[in-house]
Amino acid sequence: MKKEQYLGVSVSPLTYDQIIEDMKQRIKAGEQSTVIAVNPEKVMAARRDPLVKELINNSTYQIADGVGMIIASKLKKGELKERVTGVDMMKRILEMAASENLGVFFYGAKEETVKKAKENLEASIPNLHVAGYENGYVQDQEVLLEKIRQSGAQVIFVALGSPRQELWIRENMPKLPEVKVFQGVGGSFDVYSG
Ligand code: UDP
Repeated sequence: MKKEQYLGVSVSPLTYDQIIEDMKQRIKAGEQSTVIAVNPEKVMAARRDPLVKELINNSTYQIADGVGMIIASKLKKGELKERVTGVDMMKRILEMAASENLGVFFYGAKEETVKKAKENLEASIPNLHVAGYENGYVQDQEVLLEKIRQSGAQVIFVALGSPRQELWIRENMPKLPEVKVFQGVGGSFDVYSG
């Protein structure tokens, strides 16, 4: 898959539609995908911390979430044309999940925030099936993993802040083989709960 490099950090020069199309193919092939948002702050964090760099570069889709990335691409005559934000990418993935009949799981944020985000999104996206949710302050990870497995969800959004959510995804992806799409969404549940 095509990538652009920013100080050693990979970014996908793809539109929302192109990512969704590619993701659908990967789901059909039984492959797991991860989505991570990249902005100039994360590029700088990756310079300081090799683990952050590795987490970004090992993701399937690194979306250009920040106008700084578009400006940087223009300067090097790259192909990033418009921002692909984490919060909008989440919505597009939810719409894809609704039309493909895939259950989704929300993990992270405060209890009332994640619950309200679920309710608002279910009200605005026809046929969306939120199979389950859990707040980001639960302690027992085995109970959480079992809850995700039992839900039958094939898409999960993780809102624990960075890089904690990316570390969680890397650690738990092999333990959740039925989940095909993982997106770290930072403050997106907070946005959708409003
Ligand atoms: N969060 C959580 N558990 C934690 C720490 C944070 O669920 O142990 C949640 C927090 O409630 C917020 C979300 O992670 O809803 C994103 O946090 P933040 O805005 O700091 O992340 P960023 O988008 O800046 O990476």
